[in-house]
Amino acid sequence: MAIQSIEAYSVVLRYREPFRIAPSTTVESHNVIVKVVTDFGVIGIGESSPSERVTHETPQTVIETLDEIAPNLIGMCPLRIEQISETMDELVAENPSAKAAIDIALHDILGKVARKPLFKLIGGFREAILTDLTLGIKEPEEMASDAVKAVKRGFKAFKVKVGVNPLEDFERIQKIREAIGSEIAIRIDANQGWTVNEAVTLLKRLEAFEIEFVEQPIKGDDIQGLAAIREASQIPLMADESVHTPEDALHLIKENAVDMINIKLMKSGGILKAKKIAVIAEAANVPCMIGCMGESTVGITAGVHLAAALKNIQYADLDSDILIADKLVSKGGAELVASQRIPSMKPGLGIIKLKEELLGNPLRVYK
Ligand SMILES: [Mg+2]
Repeated sequence: MAIQSIEAYSVVLRYREPFRIAPSTTVESHNVIVKVVTDFGVIGIGESSPSERVTHETPQTVIETLDEIAPNLIGMCPLRIEQISETMDELVAENPSAKAAIDIALHDILGKVARKPLFKLIGGFREAILTDLTLGIKEPEEMASDAVKAVKRGFKAFKVKVGVNPLEDFERIQKIREAIGSEIAIRIDANQGWTVNEAVTLLKRLEAFEIEFVEQPIKGDDIQGLAAIREASQIPLMADESVHTPEDALHLIKENAVDMINIKLMKSGGILKAKKIAVIAEAANVPCMIGCMGESTVGITAGVHLAAALKNIQYADLDSDILIADKLVSKGGAELVASQRIPSMKPGLGIIKLKEELLGNPLRVYK
């Protein structure tokens, strides 16, 4: 079994409405879809959704990284995922979202060769996982009304984007909690927007609103600051921008700086290393969430399979394809039923068809 060729496609996917978080507003997701073609008739699909802010990647650097990596993978066995991961790291440092596209495609091939849904091959712990819906930053009243509409659609948990200024952020949470009642979970994500002091003061005031956890209140590299907030606050603290790799996870756990970790395939470099983060965290009794950047249903489906596979991935924020208007996957992939994400029972990722108008022709074919 060998990799015969690798194709890379550039795709632009429009959001339903501008999506604002503390440091930025997004209207389109610029992603790279990868197809790994094998010499035994199976094709694996993967996706890169680069974030300049988080991993210093752009669609351009993803292609440049693939230019370095992909020609060297031709002829390798696609089932030897750890070997290929090591090869990718030897060829190019960092650039995890580019590597994630390859890693996801290889896992798709693994499932297709075994004729089993991927989640059953890598753990198979559960059949579905509840996802939250992210509420982008708007005026407090608007966010509360967005939340009410989403509850009517069946959502049972929200990830509320905050981190603009603590007074307004308090009002956002207060208005949303008043509007949706006490049965719906609220998680908050400041995307590094507060100082340590702002976070400590605000989180104390927010304890009254039953916040499930707070994600990345302060700068990702301020590990001591995270430990100080964790000490001062009752609300569980989740690291996102602070943890990209298994080494980061171990470091934060050793520094007593986290209660939970948000794993993203685009930060870890794909499923293989995401599993390593989840396992390290599990040994330290640190539950994980699986989150996302701006993936289509391709990347989201990979996240759903991983979440279904592993016991320690207890939370999911797998909603970018819900916020995106352009539907790249026209058949197959993970489903959304009320608030549950359900992996396909078809082999591999279970993605049957991509919309040709959105995919276009390959930008690169590596042979
Ligand atoms: Mg986050």
